[in-house]
Amino acid sequence: MSENSLFTRIINRKLAADIIYEDDQCIAINDIAPKAPVHMLVIPRRPISRLTDATKDDRDLLGHLMWVAGEVARMAGVSDAFRLVVNNGEGAGQTVFHLHLHVLANKGTSKKFSENDL
Ligand code: 5GP
Repeated sequence: MSENSLFTRIINRKLAADIIYEDDQCIAINDIAPKAPVHMLVIPRRPISRLTDATKDDRDLLGHLMWVAGEVARMAGVSDAFRLVVNNGEGAGQTVFHLHLHVLANKGTSKKFSENDL
């Protein structure tokens, strides 16, 4: 667990980010260095370092993150064509050790929305 990860600082508003969605369990932000026209990150508030550090008790949270990934994709207008990526571990390219789902699409625009829009 990393209590002071980069993403925890974003969640706690200690670091600026383009937050496009948030609820009691997670936030979604635009990636600062997008690798595609739409590149959003879905991040749990709970600072799980990587997917393989999630416990059995995190199963509902993991499901929620995937559901939110689909919703932000829908709101960005890319629900027909997007990729979901989780880099697990340094060898896989993980650089921020606070679990996050990459939502990537070649078309569309991410836009800010709230739980009420879902
Ligand atoms: P990873 O390589 O760990 O799977 O993904 C980390 C992602 O976080 C990268 O795509 C990187 O561009 C993004 N990132 C790193 N620092 C920041 C930041 O300060 N703000 C935002 N919005 N994204 C960041």
